[in-house]
Amino acid sequence: MDSFFEEGSLVAVLTTQPLDRTLDYKAPAGGCFEGAYVEVPLGPRKIMGVVWGPGRGDFDIAKVRSVIRVLDVTPMQAELREFLQRAGDYTLTPMPAMLRLATRAPGLSEAPSLRKIYRLGDVEPDRMTDPRRRVLEVLREIGGLAYTLGELAEAAGVTSSVIKGLAKQGAVREEEAPRDVAFARLDPERGGKTLTADQEAAAQVLREAIASGRYGTTLLKGVTGSGKTEVYLEAVAACLRKGRQALVLLPEIALTAEFLTRVEARFGARPAEWHSGVTMTERRRVWKQVSQGGAQLVVGARSALFLPFRDLGLTIVDEEHDTSYKQEEGALYNARDMAVLRASICAGQVVLASATPSLESWANADAGKYRRLDLVSRFGASVMPEMGAIDMRGQELPSNRWVSPALAAQVRARLEKGEQAMLFINRRGYAPVTICRACGHQIGCPHCDARMVEHRFLQRLVCHQCGETIPKPSECPECHAEDKLAAVGPGVERLAEEAAELFPEARLAVLSSDLFASARALKDEIETIASGGADIIIGTQLVAKGHNFPHLTLVGVIDSDLGLQGSDLRAAERTFQLMRQVAGRAGRAEKPGTALMQTFQPEHPVIRAILSGDEEDFWKAEAEERRAAGMPPYGRLAGIILSSTEAQEAFDLGNAMARQDGPLRRVGAQVYGPAPAPIARVRGRHRVRLLVKAPKGAALQPALTAWAAQFRLKGELRMAIDIDPQNFF
Ligand code: ADP
Ligand code: ZN
Repeated sequence: MDSFFEEGSLVAVLTTQPLDRTLDYKAPAGGCFEGAYVEVPLGPRKIMGVVWGPGRGDFDIAKVRSVIRVLDVTPMQAELREFLQRAGDYTLTPMPAMLRLATRAPGLSEAPSLRKIYRLGDVEPDRMTDPRRRVLEVLREIGGLAYTLGELAEAAGVTSSVIKGLAKQGAVREEEAPRDVAFARLDPERGGKTLTADQEAAAQVLREAIASGRYGTTLLKGVTGSGKTEVYLEAVAACLRKGRQALVLLPEIALTAEFLTRVEARFGARPAEWHSGVTMTERRRVWKQVSQGGAQLVVGARSALFLPFRDLGLTIVDEEHDTSYKQEEGALYNARDMAVLRASICAGQVVLASATPSLESWANADAGKYRRLDLVSRFGASVMPEMGAIDMRGQELPSNRWVSPALAAQVRARLEKGEQAMLFINRRGYAPVTICRACGHQIGCPHCDARMVEHRFLQRLVCHQCGETIPKPSECPECHAEDKLAAVGPGVERLAEEAAELFPEARLAVLSSDLFASARALKDEIETIASGGADIIIGTQLVAKGHNFPHLTLVGVIDSDLGLQGSDLRAAERTFQLMRQVAGRAGRAEKPGTALMQTFQPEHPVIRAILSGDEEDFWKAEAEERRAAGMPPYGRLAGIILSSTEAQEAFDLGNAMARQDGPLRRVGAQVYGPAPAPIARVRGRHRVRLLVKAPKGAALQPALTAWAAQFRLKGELRMAIDIDPQNFF
């Protein structure tokens, strides 16, 4: 039970100000509960905070000020406070930053606002016009219900002045209504699709898990199209029946539209949405309704995990292996792991769904920490694609051409049958390198240690690290030779150009995240493709993520070796996942699909595992290698990035940290480095990294904290600690 603080007693208030502690205040008139959102004075300002517990009492009591007021929002529950605290401790994120994650909705401190709504009035207008008649008809159709001004104007196809005119006469009634209204009720009893025996067995396990009312995590592994979504919607239904809330996390906003439609078909109404495409007023509505129980289901991006759920019973992490679940700036957390943490605190269930799980989740299931459910076959007549390699060593290709004759022949065969083909390349832009043929100079970013990538569509060179763009120069910046700059290597735009030459009769669709002005435009394009509005789809990583293209029967992977070259710990795992995902796009409907991988190393173990389809063998081999090396998930890693405008400063600190490693050695951890980070300069800051490796059971976070506390960050120096790093840049 949350404690209550009488008026005048000392309370500790956590704010989002970058301070390393809570601040003491006196409880206001009427007192306040632990967890209450309050407004407090700080210097000349008023700021928002949360009552975090009894005051520390280490301020001069005469100077302690009073809480100004308790805000009219549901207090933060003990469960969320504990979650923020433990997630902050785990990721070594200061508590003010954690509180910011939990309060990312505007206007929480304002009084609940009102908006005008319009219903049918009881007077006839003095003069009837066509627009007026349409307004009244639209209102009659919805019975006693109401519209907002914008909605009504759109539905009737009139300007708002027509409605205002009617309101003045009383023909339409204008009323004030609260803005942050509850979401429509979802009905779990509407019934879903009839499940296959496999699907039903999996759904039943999840229903029982939910009925237990206890914490548990399930890895739901199933090939693309096996019905994982249908199965986890059954778990959502079970959760709603219990009166608890559910959260579905998706890795990509572009996937939400299709998913919302499925939810609406299954439960009869749309759920709450939470992602970067949601307006500020809608965010506030979602935040408030989640806290009051007026939102039963939230569909969103990783940050939805920090919403103030009243009673979170189930969290689905769809495509759980997806790297976008890792937040790489600010608070460095992995939403997949944090979902498990929150569920363990709120007695909820977690379902991690994927066709190609992360090695972490695979290992947790292997060790018995997670339940594992497998859906082994695709739903209905669709079967897994046939996989094959095209050995590029035997293919004749002119320079600056990437589609082999063998692949081109396969594409042509699909075009003749009226089916779709996809060409996949995991590189945005036109060409990764721009080189001067006169002097050999390669154009690099002025701020980063990275090459500028030509984007012909934008007619600019772009740095994929910092986003800097410059117009494509006509002369070499180094030797000033005219017209000697040449594009080297393939990107998705260049592949599109080649495809247009090879298949002049085909309709092409290019899917790359930077080619679309809005999520809406991307969604429209995806729908067009799905309904057969393109013959050849040319895409980057974006196409690998869960879209459903029923006419697609061939996927050609242009450069299967790309992901295998890096020194990244996860290169093999990433390539494996990506290839299986892309291949999973082919043949999702009745027509069988084929996936062909162009490779110069057909005998590479990862390529062989993909082709053979023996996934368990791949994971076992990969797990063995990591175990032998003491690498995650069989050991622990933390990445430390030091950055500064002065390279030497960062190196000096790195060297000092490597020498003074006592706190780490005491828990059996080792430091590697300092070394220049793989991308040694970003946005003008030099970056140096250290890697800390520890045995699995080590108390790594307290050791890291004690270690880092030995050093003072002077001037421009910054330190970021990344627990369980995903990327090594
Ligand atoms: P996954 O999430 O594993 O990729 P989905 O749940 O999206 O698979 O299922 C793939 C397609 O098959 C979807 O269009 C889905 O509606 C359909 N489907 C799956 N299971 C059934 C079923 N039991 N009855 C009818 N359609 C189904
Ligand atoms: Zn740059």
